[in-house]
Amino acid sequence: MSIQENLLQIKSQLPNHVTLVAVSKTKPVSDLMEAYEAGQRIFGENKIQEMTEKWQQMPKDIEWHMIGHVQSNKVKYMVEYVKLIHGVDSLKLLKEINRHAIRWRKNINCLLQIHIAEEETKFGLDENELADLLNSEEFKEMNNIKVIGLMGMATFTDNQQQIKREFDFLKSIFDKYKQLETSNLKLETLSMGMSGDYQLAIECGSTMVRIGSSIFGGRK
Ligand SMILES: *Cc1c(COP(=O)(O)O)cnc(C)c1O
Repeated sequence: MSIQENLLQIKSQLPNHVTLVAVSKTKPVSDLMEAYEAGQRIFGENKIQEMTEKWQQMPKDIEWHMIGHVQSNKVKYMVEYVKLIHGVDSLKLLKEINRHAIRWRKNINCLLQIHIAEEETKFGLDENELADLLNSEEFKEMNNIKVIGLMGMATFTDNQQQIKREFDFLKSIFDKYKQLETSNLKLETLSMGMSGDYQLAIECGSTMVRIGSSIFGGRK
């Protein structure tokens, strides 16, 4: 099937309240343009340099989402245009995003990444670290970022029960902190689910799915 067919097929399955991020990492601009021509306007990349190159070459009505792990020293390359940063996993990084956002007189939307998988290699905060971050004075003083939700990645496994448990856990944290609303915190977006597990993620309460290979084909 073509990229357009894959995209339309996936979109036809998504409930209205679920946003699709087309994960285009490693794929050439021509592939992204095919998705763009089929109506897709939200793209996710996991490397800042690659995202910036694509942003420069592509139509300016695209929303670019950074879904990968972010190094503090690279934040400056994307503040100008990035729409949502999914993988924020420390106060230090949030501080750096806020600092650059001030320079650009911008307000940057972020998701905090929560560690829900078994694998230690996956990034993210645990629940205590999340609480500490949100309760810190430093966070409360950041006026140029807004935490609009949470993001998580389940363990890479065929065990559906385990994946469900991890998604349910993330949803429970999301619901708990949803009540907390301040000038720079309002949890509305729950980013969970990829090609292999997005249906389950939606059943567990996801509002944003990040789908790559099911749209663009496998990556090397
Ligand atoms: C690559 C990636 C995806 C998409 O993965 P697929 O299995 O190709 O859909 C989603 N989220 C993150 C954080 C990724 O790095």
